Amino acid sequence: MPSPAIALLLTGHELMTGDTVDTNSAMISRHLLETGILVAEKCTVGDEPDALKKSLLRLSQEYDGVIVNGGLGPTEDDLTASIIGDLCGAPLVENAEALAHVEAWCERRGIQANSANLKQAWLPENADLIPNPIGSAVGFSLSLGNCLVLTTPGVPSELEAMLPTVTTMLVAAVGGSETYIQRIQTFGVGESTIQQWANELGDGWPSSVTLGFRAGLPQLELKLTVAHAEHVPDQKRAYDLLVNRFGDHILGEKDARLAQVVQALLRDQKKTMTTAESCTGGLIASMVTREPGSSAVFEAGLVTYANSAKNQLLGVGENVLNTEGAVSEPVVRQMLLGALERAGADIGVAVSGIAGPDGGTADKPVGTVWIAWGTREDLRTHRAQIPGSRSLFQGLVAAVALDLIRRHLLGLPALPHYFTRQAQ
Ligand code: AMP
Ligand code: MG
Repeated sequence: MPSPAIALLLTGHELMTGDTVDTNSAMISRHLLETGILVAEKCTVGDEPDALKKSLLRLSQEYDGVIVNGGLGPTEDDLTASIIGDLCGAPLVENAEALAHVEAWCERRGIQANSANLKQAWLPENADLIPNPIGSAVGFSLSLGNCLVLTTPGVPSELEAMLPTVTTMLVAAVGGSETYIQRIQTFGVGESTIQQWANELGDGWPSSVTLGFRAGLPQLELKLTVAHAEHVPDQKRAYDLLVNRFGDHILGEKDARLAQVVQALLRDQKKTMTTAESCTGGLIASMVTREPGSSAVFEAGLVTYANSAKNQLLGVGENVLNTEGAVSEPVVRQMLLGALERAGADIGVAVSGIAGPDGGTADKPVGTVWIAWGTREDLRTHRAQIPGSRSLFQGLVAAVALDLIRRHLLGLPALPHYFTRQAQ
């Protein structure tokens, strides 16, 4: 079956002014791709009825399916339902299912549904409802000529929650194509390094497997795509090749995140961790505690920014702070020992560095960071140079810190590729 032709219509004044960056179209595209559907066109318009009508009419004539995003809310500028109703010649009617949903949504919040809330229950006649598990606005689908139109809310979390249903409805109506995508999360190895290695493998890399990348900071996602079920074993072979070469950089599959992986390892090993942070200002602790279940593995972390705090809260010697400076090996070592003792944790990480833009010296330029990680018995330290803006530096240092804990827990090589390469 040929792949269906699908377009996206992104709506909203805020997209046109640049107040909101369109991340929803990327989310929809990624989701559809897993079903073998490559979005053929993305069209973005404001909230003007004429522009909306014109774009939707054209897209409906050119494509098998159109996903409309935005404009389902309770306010005056949310026009999607009335525009589709007009184009399809379907009057808006109060949809009983949508009404029950809006009322239940209001009731859970202890509020009385007002006219703006109730507006969201008015859908084009004969529309099929698309449930919204978290928000008040439901989506709906309706045929416009030969095209299936599906509507989704603009709020990204609501869109995400509805996408599985939207995809199922779309594929049921217009079909999908066979595609098998395996997504792998990695940290600390670059796209160019992996691509070059794959090129060097030549025939060693199965030709039916396409290697794709999505560089997201701090992780890099790899995608192994095959077009037919018969090539799934090749996909497995490609994965094994990657594991053999870059195994210590692989965090896991699908949406595995560094902090999630660290948490799982700590749980398995029945250990707790702590942090002593200076230049990251609590970001490492934040990344850990953002993951549900962190209370089982994380009791305390300390943010010690000033020298006096490093001394008073972590017991770092004044003498060492004065002679070596806050960004130094003995200081991070003492920070970690202090945190391990005070938090009563098994393993931890301490960082002290120069995030910039000021504060660098010839000896310790902006981007210099000292990291200590491990346990009382097996404590390691390393000086690294991390480039980039202040926020990039903080994000990368925090990710490296978590990766070092992961490596320690897994008993992987003490110094990862991204450090040894710096030393060359
Ligand atoms: P709406 O469903 O049109 O009421 O949109 C609700 C909110 O979703 C807007 O205020 C935006 O913040 C957000 N939003 C709308 N469209 C997008 C988009 N394409 N990407 C990311 N966020 C969006
Ligand atoms: Mg809108």
